[in-house]
Amino acid sequence: MAANREAQNPVDLDDLYRDVILDHYRSPRNRGARDDATVSAEGFNPSCGDEIQLSVAIVNGSLNGIGFGGSGCSISQSSASMMTEAMTGRSIESAREMSRHVQQMLTDDGFDLDAVDLGDLEALSGVAKFPVRIKCGLLAWKVLDQALADAAGESVSDDSDIPTRVTSS
Ligand code: ZN
Repeated sequence: MAANREAQNPVDLDDLYRDVILDHYRSPRNRGARDDATVSAEGFNPSCGDEIQLSVAIVNGSLNGIGFGGSGCSISQSSASMMTEAMTGRSIESAREMSRHVQQMLTDDGFDLDAVDLGDLEALSGVAKFPVRIKCGLLAWKVLDQALADAAGESVSDDSDIPTRVTSS
């Protein structure tokens, strides 16, 4: 079955990257909505059918916790899991900067991985080699951007390729 094959090897990633991504896919971190969320947002990747919902608890300008829900391919779901883990405890400003770096890593050929410390998030860099999967990797970060912009009192310009929206704030 195609689904089983994907669970074993989502795409032809380097072993180290694949292990990190599969670990988050099989044992997702922070799955489920948070009761203490101060802003919730969702997004959709039409090219693959991936959906992500985020509920973010922001206290005094910091991300106290992020929960995610949704369904879709292994890249979209593991990217969301990795994002929630890496962003928890950060300030809004720091999280937005990190999100920018990850999105550059996925979309910009000239991005210098050594210039920033992305920790386990570096595993997502392997996805950049597979253009059809890049939006899967970007989805959770686009939803995060939408939620954090709302929390900062800004609006995010709509990306019709990966539509996102705030669902409550
Ligand atoms: Zn996908």
